[in-house]
Amino acid sequence: MKLKIAVVPGDGIGPDIITEALKVLGEVGMRFGHRFDFSFYLAGGAALDAVGEPLPESTVLGCRDADAILLGAVGGPAWDHLEGRLRPEQALLGLRSQMGLFCNLRPAVLHTELSSACPLKPEIIGDGLDIMVVRELTGGIYFGERGITDDGESAFDTMTYSVDEVKRIAKIAFEAAMKRGKKLCSVDKANILENSRLWRRTVVEVSQEYPEVELTHMYVDNAAMQLVRDPGQFDVIVTTNMFGDILSDEASMITGSIGMLPSASLNADNFGMYEPIHGSAPDIAGKDMANPIATVLSCAMMLRYTFDLNSEAEAMEKAVTEVLAAGYRTKDIHTEGTKLVGTRKMGDLIAEAVKSQK
Ligand code: NAD
Repeated sequence: MKLKIAVVPGDGIGPDIITEALKVLGEVGMRFGHRFDFSFYLAGGAALDAVGEPLPESTVLGCRDADAILLGAVGGPAWDHLEGRLRPEQALLGLRSQMGLFCNLRPAVLHTELSSACPLKPEIIGDGLDIMVVRELTGGIYFGERGITDDGESAFDTMTYSVDEVKRIAKIAFEAAMKRGKKLCSVDKANILENSRLWRRTVVEVSQEYPEVELTHMYVDNAAMQLVRDPGQFDVIVTTNMFGDILSDEASMITGSIGMLPSASLNADNFGMYEPIHGSAPDIAGKDMANPIATVLSCAMMLRYTFDLNSEAEAMEKAVTEVLAAGYRTKDIHTEGTKLVGTRKMGDLIAEAVKSQK
């Protein structure tokens, strides 16, 4: 299979972690007989420095022409003084809207080897955590009509969802549940919001197409509580833009390590932008200190969700687990008794683990 990937390293540690992720992808390609065709594009501060805008047209065209996008991170102190459309993060918002990426997948996985990083008690974590938050990304209150009165004394933001918007995100969530533990929890506030009642009714309607998936509903306040009380009860969570924003951050912090968590933003054709959830970490950029695992795992998501290459995705994830089990750690996850390695060595070890798997 020939797979065309638009690579957008971005700023700070972006180039460091992307280099390692591509190394591992290359090894997966060799082992499974796929050809990855990587094209590189500028975005964020790097693009501002080169051409004066955070998201050049050439980047948009290149990404559109690819089968998937792999992004490092954008931003940093050199561009903090810029405002409005010149902000580096405009590149992310621009790519999401131009590619119609309405669905955000954020897994929160706690590897048993790193369980000491989890802020919850061991008896709450049990055998580890593996939750997938599916967040609607282009609708709801963040995109509704808003305003403020002339005297500045009152303001409003509106939340609107159409049945079609709910249907398309629900379908992705059910599909994700089918590939995992076949359990889906839809989170809303249907006891108060009319919007949530439409959300719930539509999710139930879509569930008819997925009889194998066990669907439950939960109010958002309860979901926030249950995530720290008993996170093991969740498999896939689907929710609106704002609720998902909050719950996905809560779920990821339970795992305790920002350098480990991948994400995917998808459109209706499974075209996706894959990126680690962390930022550009300017404090450690270029110092061979960044953890490349979140980016490697973002590539595994790309293989699974855009290319439907499940064995290849599993090989990457298994390689990460093996390297962690062998005791190797970058500085952010290093604890006494484990072996400290840099970004490049971590990439080498994961690539080697992919190669030597039976
Ligand atoms: P950050 O995620 O970049 O860094 C927070 C802390 O986590 C830092 O101490 C950093 O060293 C550490 N860290 C992050 N990723 C790591 C990794 N892979 N390995 C080891 N340590 C890691 O967040 P921040 O400091 O708030 O933001 C820095 C810049 O990144 C800002 O310009 C911000 O706007 C930008 N940012 C970009 C994105 C994105 O591109 N998606 C997301 C968040 C922040």
